[in-house]
Amino acid sequence: MKIIVILILLILFVIYFNWSTLNSFIPDNPNVPNVVLSNNDRILIMAPHPDDESIATGGLIQNAIDKGIPVHVVFLTNGDFNVWSYTLYEKIPMLTSSQALELGEIRRQEALNAIKELGLSEKDATFLGYPDYGTSEILYYHWGNNPPYQSILTRKTEVPYSKALSPGAPYRGESIMKDIEAVINDFGPTKIFVSHPDDHHPDHRAMFVFTIVSLWEIRKEVEIYPYVVHYRNWPLPLGYHPNYFLDPPSYDHGIVWKELPMKSRNVQTKFSALKKHMTQYEANKKYLNSFIRTNEVYGNFEDISLGITLVDISLNKNQIQKSPPQEFNDSQKDAFVRIEAQSVKIENDKLVLRYAISEPFKERIDLFVYVYGYKRDTDFSKMPKINIKVDLNNYSVYDQKTPIPKENCEVKKTSTEIIIKIPLKIIGNPDKILFSARTAMGPLSLDLMPWRIGIIDTDG
Ligand SMILES: [Zn+2]
Repeated sequence: MKIIVILILLILFVIYFNWSTLNSFIPDNPNVPNVVLSNNDRILIMAPHPDDESIATGGLIQNAIDKGIPVHVVFLTNGDFNVWSYTLYEKIPMLTSSQALELGEIRRQEALNAIKELGLSEKDATFLGYPDYGTSEILYYHWGNNPPYQSILTRKTEVPYSKALSPGAPYRGESIMKDIEAVINDFGPTKIFVSHPDDHHPDHRAMFVFTIVSLWEIRKEVEIYPYVVHYRNWPLPLGYHPNYFLDPPSYDHGIVWKELPMKSRNVQTKFSALKKHMTQYEANKKYLNSFIRTNEVYGNFEDISLGITLVDISLNKNQIQKSPPQEFNDSQKDAFVRIEAQSVKIENDKLVLRYAISEPFKERIDLFVYVYGYKRDTDFSKMPKINIKVDLNNYSVYDQKTPIPKENCEVKKTSTEIIIKIPLKIIGNPDKILFSARTAMGPLSLDLMPWRIGIIDTDG
């Protein structure tokens, strides 16, 4: 009898011990304040691809559900391109158009399986069906009367999925914005978790811009929590380390990071959800496992006040982040050119951007600068999208893909410094400016600067 009582007590103790460890918060990163969810919150997750929701917000979604907070997930693409890496153009996936569309259907189902694992259901997800790996191109070049983007793999120029929000919508910037605006108006979020303006994946960067501008267009103020998934040489160490902190990829000036500490059982459920993305998990296990940590991190850049005072918005990178991506081959590593410094101001009704690069300009290296104006009473689709390409001997200026007389812009260049002056008139006399830059070798992006938001300071 005594033995039975002891055994029962022992079993109860083991159950209690497991229960309490599973429900305990793992100590969090003391350098980063926590994300605080309140009972009145409504959480919208903006995921460029199926799997980003689990990678970046698998813990957050569970935390919200535990508190009874409504969550909705929007997938910008169905992930029908399959392969992403820095050296993408050497690894064009050999899929036929119909195989790519089939993959889009499979990844949609995987996403539904994953969010169910996290506690959501099919009605909590919206799929927009825009082209995987094509949404940055849409942002740069496909607005208004320009022909829609054509997907490299599916060959489609409009949303091909019958279960998408707007089947048949042309691959243009205004289609994406209309869909995002509809979801935001319909769901009414108080907090939006969205891919990061400094992420190195083009769809992730684009989704941030589309989301921010959609909010401006519908005059909604919502707290924004950007998350990073693709960043050079991050997160480290790679692999499954469920007891490690996830450190933010950088502590750059002008960015405020917050984190969500997770309970052990939520870490394990996040891991199960991630594995539901079978097509992705099998191919990228080590990388994806690196996000199974004790916390999730979110960080937004502050807006920049654009006036006569020069603002230094250089990124404060450490040695690892300064190095070329590990995926680059030797000649790509040799060609790697970093943007060391960036500053911005307004001078005589011109936007002045200054870039310093790490190596003298050489043959085959380009600097691309993107400057998009936003004006309160003008449809964003009608605002100029200024794309500037600077190479060793020359520069060209475009509105989307249409060349505009380059005399309109002034580009001064020494071997490692580029100063660009763009009249505000060319940018559409904006109230706000979104801008970004990257170095490239042919189709290969080298270094990238985040999309930043500048507010025109009318007093200065
Ligand atoms: Zn993604």
